[in-house]
Amino acid sequence: MVDTAKLVREFGTPLYLYDLRRVRESVASLRSALPTGTHIYYSLKANPHPDIAAAARAEGCDAGVTSPGEVADAAAAGFPLDECLYTGPGKSEEAVDRSVREGVRTFSVESETDFRRRARAAERTRQRLRCLIRVNGTEAAGGVGLRMSGGPSQFGVDFARVAGLAKSVQDHPGTTLRGLHFFPLTNAKDEESLLEEFTRTLRAAAALRAQGVPIDQLDIGGGFAAPFAVPGDPPVYRSLADRLTAALDEHMAGWRDGAPRISVESGRYLAASCGTLVLGVLDVKKSHGRTYAVLDGGVNCLGGMSATGRLLPLSAVPLEATERAEDKNEPVHLAGPLCTPVDVLGRGTRLPLPRVGDLVQIPNVGAYGMTASLLAFLSHPSAAEVVVDGGRLVSATRLQRERRPIGPPPSGAAPGPDQGRPAGPNPGRR
Ligand SMILES: *Cc1c(COP(=O)(O)O)cnc(C)c1O
Repeated sequence: MVDTAKLVREFGTPLYLYDLRRVRESVASLRSALPTGTHIYYSLKANPHPDIAAAARAEGCDAGVTSPGEVADAAAAGFPLDECLYTGPGKSEEAVDRSVREGVRTFSVESETDFRRRARAAERTRQRLRCLIRVNGTEAAGGVGLRMSGGPSQFGVDFARVAGLAKSVQDHPGTTLRGLHFFPLTNAKDEESLLEEFTRTLRAAAALRAQGVPIDQLDIGGGFAAPFAVPGDPPVYRSLADRLTAALDEHMAGWRDGAPRISVESGRYLAASCGTLVLGVLDVKKSHGRTYAVLDGGVNCLGGMSATGRLLPLSAVPLEATERAEDKNEPVHLAGPLCTPVDVLGRGTRLPLPRVGDLVQIPNVGAYGMTASLLAFLSHPSAAEVVVDGGRLVSATRLQRERRPIGPPPSGAAPGPDQGRPAGPNPGRR
């Protein structure tokens, strides 16, 4: 077991502690919840830390990436880039060209304009690019998870226009139509919602296949859930594998022979449980009858996306909350150190009254923790990120924020201290 107190003495707080064993367990558990042979993309968006990504790679996942930075992280983690899937509603020519030069070949196509960019990139780089058309499904929104398609959306191509776009992709000499990409929801409420969504996806894909759209790869997306910043285990999907297998048999003839190959994507389910955020208590104070624990990390370390009022309503419950019987615990507001009232991680969380110098541990923050936070807001150093594998220390790093000049120096400006020096590790210009 890891000695958290010892790591804190060495690296300080705030500290993200990641255990690679949990990543491997999560991949195995997702694999067992899916039809035999289902291909899994690890979405680096959830946590691009190279050790975590490498653990997902070692378990046989490919990488789902959305930016040149994630392409670099995927490469550093050992993912073969020609098997990466590059997705996202806005891909600049520069980002795509750079990724193609690095070795990325497969892209999700989100619109006609996005396709024309892909075609031009294929011409410029003289590489044949494989395209999955991202489909915005046909059905109206249901009450599950966070839906990302079915109505007006910046994601994907409306169902009615997919067949026409598929033809353009096939006809262009620089592009190959690999198949279809769906990602209609994230963080599904339960197994039923997940299966319902996959079934809708399979119906839509089958309808497009019947219209003549060839499908060598069908990426049915994901939506696999996990607790966020509260104690608990990721859901176990007991009947999903059997029922999804049946749905595939019904709608996607050939899938058992890999025609089409079936893929899913997951960030949250694979990475959430590996991470714990350890924070130090800087102050404990009462105000108008309410108890505040002021921690040394807040929305600059965790939950910045919630502070924006979007996604994952944050109400962190530390592990300490489960240590004693409920009735002995007290409601505590968990505040961060930032000078803004949005910097609250938990409100009225019942836990043993913390004391100055105590540690508070927020579990299940391996996904959408660190890099989904307001990292640069108020300019504190970012949290330490310490990776262990069971009891063994693997790495300890800190993501750095730095400002570098870009472009030529403004005319008439006196040369800065860095300018004119040979390019070192932190060159003044490109
Ligand atoms: C965000 C995203 C994912 C990952 O979602 P999780 O909820 O972390 O599993 C996968 N695919 C696409 C296209 C996404 O935008």
